[in-house]
Amino acid sequence: METVSWHMSMGVGNYVQTEFLLPRFCPNCGNGNNPSTTQQGYKLFEDYGIFFLIHTCPVCRKFHLTTQKIYKDSSNKPTELLTLYPKGSLRKFSTLIEELSPRFVDSYHQAEKAEVASSYDLAISGYRTALEILIKDYAKEYSGESVDQISSLNLHRAISHYLNNDPSSLVSADVVHFIGNDATHWKRPENYDSQKSLIQVKQYFEIFLSIIKTRLMVNNPPVSR
Ligand SMILES: [Zn+2]
Repeated sequence: METVSWHMSMGVGNYVQTEFLLPRFCPNCGNGNNPSTTQQGYKLFEDYGIFFLIHTCPVCRKFHLTTQKIYKDSSNKPTELLTLYPKGSLRKFSTLIEELSPRFVDSYHQAEKAEVASSYDLAISGYRTALEILIKDYAKEYSGESVDQISSLNLHRAISHYLNNDPSSLVSADVVHFIGNDATHWKRPENYDSQKSLIQVKQYFEIFLSIIKTRLMVNNPPVSR
């Protein structure tokens, strides 16, 4: 689930201008989320508090509820969204993508669920897996190569082999791939930040998805001459 960050005072001592998270889209109506938020209760621990928030969507007028782990203002740690009710639906893909690769859709949804559970490394490696499946299912349909040829390539080689003549798709796939490796491998960069990495992965995944979607639309036009 994609979240956006907001700030407000929780009305509690060390939580003055506090960051909290919202799902980017209202889980009730699916519109961009711009709710009014009130703090309904909390439990304080030494470095952080668990806050219970109610958000009212101005479009559908319905509530959604969240619990969030919020660190004191003096801490630099980012807020974590612990629970959301109602859960909201998983991302809907275009029919062309669903038909090309049902397994991609399934993998992507698994990554989304990991993200909702704040399992950021798991989510990143899930998006990396989803990327590999999408590239290979696309190649299976359009490259003219056999399943054996396609499956013999690891993700790194598949990206250079199939995307080499399209810089936008090459770069966007590389970002998902390399950050995905950081989330998966034992050795990772110093100052590695799972939450920041996840945001980067999702931004570049969007670019890649829009390229694949465009290609599919061009390959399957609703009219012909
Ligand atoms: Zn709504």
